[in-house]
Amino acid sequence: VPVNPLRPAILAVAGSERVKRTLTTSPATAAMVQRFVPGEARPDLIAAARTLLMSGRAVSVDYLGENTTDRAQADAAVAEYLALINDLAALPTTEVPAGAAPLEVSVKLSALGQALGADGPAIATENLRTVCTKAAEAGVWVTVDAEDHTTTAATLAVTGQVRPDFPWLGTVIQAYLYRSEDDCRDLADAGARVRLCKGAYREPETVAYQRRVDVDRAYLRCLRVLMRGAGRPLVASHDPVVLAAAADLATITGRRPGRLEYQMLYGIRTDEQLHLADRGDFVRVYLPYGHQWYGYLMRRLAERPANLAFFLRALAGR
Ligand code: FAD
Repeated sequence: VPVNPLRPAILAVAGSERVKRTLTTSPATAAMVQRFVPGEARPDLIAAARTLLMSGRAVSVDYLGENTTDRAQADAAVAEYLALINDLAALPTTEVPAGAAPLEVSVKLSALGQALGADGPAIATENLRTVCTKAAEAGVWVTVDAEDHTTTAATLAVTGQVRPDFPWLGTVIQAYLYRSEDDCRDLADAGARVRLCKGAYREPETVAYQRRVDVDRAYLRCLRVLMRGAGRPLVASHDPVVLAAAADLATITGRRPGRLEYQMLYGIRTDEQLHLADRGDFVRVYLPYGHQWYGYLMRRLAERPANLAFFLRALAGR
């Protein structure tokens, strides 16, 4: 059984401007977009972050943008991240376990210029360093998102290069890639913060598991490696099976909340986020904002038929 039979079709329209326009012109679908993305502007984001922090959850804020094709766009993304870090650092936060930080930003290297020709990786690395330097001053952490498989090796190389100067720099591993168990082993040995997710892109079977059951098994294998390793696992999933496995492994390996994070997306399983936080676990919510929300939204719809049904009902005005 594939993850979701409609997933390839939805991901195929993920680049369509026409579909994006349709979504924003209907109030019903605009409200639905807001379920996953609290707003396009920074003040909207800051208001949502404040609410999450006051509820005892940590945040990782993503300024939406990917596939940047010119230098000016990459520079603008860096400028927005610097302003964002400033605004986040001014927010009141609640107490967190030792060794954890309540504030984090998530960045995509493609938004920082990774695809700008031969110099792209160097530009993105430099931009990442600029963001990390500002973040370090403000007491904010940074995690580099994982994008499609053509960027995996380059992204791991960049984070590996920058991490010695910023030990809290997080890396994302997508369990659906065949290579990921080995990558988890390397990162666990290096003591890195690793966000483990299932993976959200449409990937060929030459590089990635296609069946849900295989992706789920791969996730649990990677999770065991990370939980037994020296680093800090960031369990990014809404899956009850994954959450239960992480809790069991935390007991077996003696990991306390400061050395393990649960991470979920804004608007998804909010009750479960609050339940985990109430029982004393460290929960971080991935909070996206910005006008480039379309690709992000399409990945959310592709993940879950129920999200899609919700979307189609909103589109039909019911
Ligand atoms: P799924 O396999 O989608 O769902 C499993 C089960 O979880 C469902 O059967 C259901 O019981 C429960 N569930 C899921 N959604 C809901 C819901 N809406 N309501 C109720 N129950 C639900 N992907 C990347 O490729 N790169 C990244 O950098 C990246 N970063 C991420 C960061 C975070 C914090 C998170 C949470 C995800 C990230 N992802 C990223 C997305 C990830 O790869 C998955 O596509 C996404 O999380 C869906 O997988 P899942 O593990 O939540 O479970």
